[in-house]
Amino acid sequence: MALLTLKDIGKIYVSDGNVAVGIRGVNLSFDRGEFVAITGKSGSGKSTLLNVISGMDSYEEGELYIEGQTTSHYLQPDWEEYRQQYISFIFQDYNIIESFTVLQNVELALMHIEDKKERRRRALDLLDRVGLSSHVHQKGSKLSGGQKQRTVIARALAKDSPIILADEPTGNLDSTTSAEIIELLREVSRDKLLIVVTHNFEQVEACATRHIRVFDGAVESDHVISRPVPTTKREDIPKPVSKNAKKADFKNGLTLGRTVFTAKPKLSAFLCFLMIVGTLGIFMVTTLCGEAGALFDDYNMFTHINGRVVLTKQNGAVITEDELEQLAAEYGAVDTLHYDVLLDEGWQYHASYIADGEENYIRGRCIYGKDYGTDIVGRYPTAENEVFLYLPIGKQPHFGKDSLTVDEIEYDGMILQVVGVAYYYDNTQTAEFLFSADGFRTVTAAFYMGVRSELNIEVTLVGKETFFYYGITPSFEVGEGKIYINAPDYQKALKASGKNEPDTTVKIESRYYNYNYHNSNSSSSYAFSRSFGNSYVTHTAPKSDSELGRYYSEVMIHPSLLREMAEEVWVQSYRQASLFFADDEAAEAAAAQLCEAGYIAVPSNTTYTPPADETVVNMISALLFAMMWLLAIVFLAFFINLCSGRTLGAFKNDMAIMRSMGIPVKVIRVSMYVRMLLALIPAYIFVAVAAFVIFTTPTLNPYFVYLHAWQYVAIFVGMLILTVRTTHKQIRTLFGESVKKSLRGGAAE
Ligand code: ADP
Ligand code: MG
Repeated sequence: MALLTLKDIGKIYVSDGNVAVGIRGVNLSFDRGEFVAITGKSGSGKSTLLNVISGMDSYEEGELYIEGQTTSHYLQPDWEEYRQQYISFIFQDYNIIESFTVLQNVELALMHIEDKKERRRRALDLLDRVGLSSHVHQKGSKLSGGQKQRTVIARALAKDSPIILADEPTGNLDSTTSAEIIELLREVSRDKLLIVVTHNFEQVEACATRHIRVFDGAVESDHVISRPVPTTKREDIPKPVSKNAKKADFKNGLTLGRTVFTAKPKLSAFLCFLMIVGTLGIFMVTTLCGEAGALFDDYNMFTHINGRVVLTKQNGAVITEDELEQLAAEYGAVDTLHYDVLLDEGWQYHASYIADGEENYIRGRCIYGKDYGTDIVGRYPTAENEVFLYLPIGKQPHFGKDSLTVDEIEYDGMILQVVGVAYYYDNTQTAEFLFSADGFRTVTAAFYMGVRSELNIEVTLVGKETFFYYGITPSFEVGEGKIYINAPDYQKALKASGKNEPDTTVKIESRYYNYNYHNSNSSSSYAFSRSFGNSYVTHTAPKSDSELGRYYSEVMIHPSLLREMAEEVWVQSYRQASLFFADDEAAEAAAAQLCEAGYIAVPSNTTYTPPADETVVNMISALLFAMMWLLAIVFLAFFINLCSGRTLGAFKNDMAIMRSMGIPVKVIRVSMYVRMLLALIPAYIFVAVAAFVIFTTPTLNPYFVYLHAWQYVAIFVGMLILTVRTTHKQIRTLFGESVKKSLRGGAAE
């Protein structure tokens, strides 16, 4: 039985409406051990014939039999297997993968050997046989034509296929080298079928056992020169021995991907760069997306502190101090805060501190009763003028990592002792100033008395009556019962009175807020009078008249005086209070009971539904964000696709060579994914390192939007999806064309 039989085979090419005959009516039969030389004019169909035999090109007529078996039912994968099993192809222009080393080129054909060491040994053996031992690590592009063709022959041998097809293998070589190659071919194909297409029959005359002439696509003559050397019947071709072909394909794809990746370092570097750009893009888009996500966060009615219950009365009456204490005892609260307005005040306050000889600012909220855990620097505040700071990690270099380095801050005119600090990484959070109960009352008093708004302060000097409008500041520096007036007008009045330390009456008139969460805020007026004997008044006297104008109008009073004023107002107007329980669970239980007892009581983590119009606005903004995000992703995908697509051209030919060798599409496909995913690694490392550096370098923290762990995961997964999709597209582009078309030397000359 013949090894290979062609029966009435015909192939036509149709391109641009022109029909060209490739081959027609070809009836041929080949056996093992034959050395067939095919000659004919250019364009006579020699290449077409070889392409048909190799299964790389389709044909319209006739049928091809391999070992007596018909191939008429073959589909693409069957032809692949056919090539893998039977065919080695040697082209005129070498077709080695130029970016691979000689060894890698040969190993490519030895993929079916699972053991790496064995694979290497066999490859080196074969290279020895073709006389390339000293060039194994040379890149394909650095070889001479003869060396390239030797590599191809070694590769063909590696496959150990029964059929070797050579299309003008010496067409580009000088005569000496040509002779060597032909001799080598003859030598390695002793028990195989070797079909050589050549211009130059003389070259092969000595070895050929058969001479076929083609003319105009048809066989013109078929002349047997000598009987094929009889061979012992071939044993079965060593088929890829693998229990799990899928697994083997995957493993080979992995190896191939790695080789492809390292073989073209410049191209791979470009891909890596592309991936980094893409990842940064997703990084930015994700930070935007994170902000959109916040639109759907639950709204807490109140600042949540573990165990806090916010309390008002249904009838809107003021809660008295006694009543609050009584409720606390009755329901088992561990702490109370009668005037809790600042806990829920949206506004943020500035504190300033001196560090590195410069004045710095912190914006934050006043907090009471919060626990920042035990991993803190210093301690929690106990005295009125002490404060604990909860700061972004960016402030750590100023305030200290193990012990405090800034020990006081100026807050609303008050100098406060910093006794402790804790840091947070999420720089979208707000800093917090944690006070002791007394301290919190002081700052609340300052807020409530409208200290930051304009006050009418009426100052009466003995013998002279004057009205001034001053700002007021609580200050621990001023002794209790004293006030400190510093203003040009006051200095003038003092001068006019002829006294340095006059008897003074100060009358303060302040606006205050009728404060209740369930009603809107309204302001009322409040008058507060105190007389200060001359011994209580302090002031700084200007040194000259010209200095007068430089003084900023300011009345400083001791916080205790401010609280005294506030207390009178609170008692009349403040309708809310906080009770603190052991934990949220206890708070919830107590709140339920308090509600039954006729109070309006809610745990501070209670959420509320924003009004409909706010919800609509939020949804529209979220939609816009989502659209922006999507657009950015699409753009990014397009960009990466475009840029990486340009790197594909360089691979087209290599892939075609691999396919012509019968390397399964699956393996190549896996290798493509591996190549792209490998390029992704530096981008991942880049992001991870950047995140680590930002995380460990406090000064960098404020310059980057804080990302949560899940957002990093989103970036990684997003990039993965983008890469897989891009690769998928690339594969489609790459495999869309037939193998033959993308191969050099395959088409007509
Ligand atoms: P040879 O290798 O003997 O020079 P070919 O087999 O390459 O000849 O070509 C045989 C005929 O088929 C020629 O007429 C050639 O123009 C035509 N042909 C070959 N390949 C193609 C192709 N891809 N598209 C159109 N015509 C082709
Ligand atoms: Mg040709």
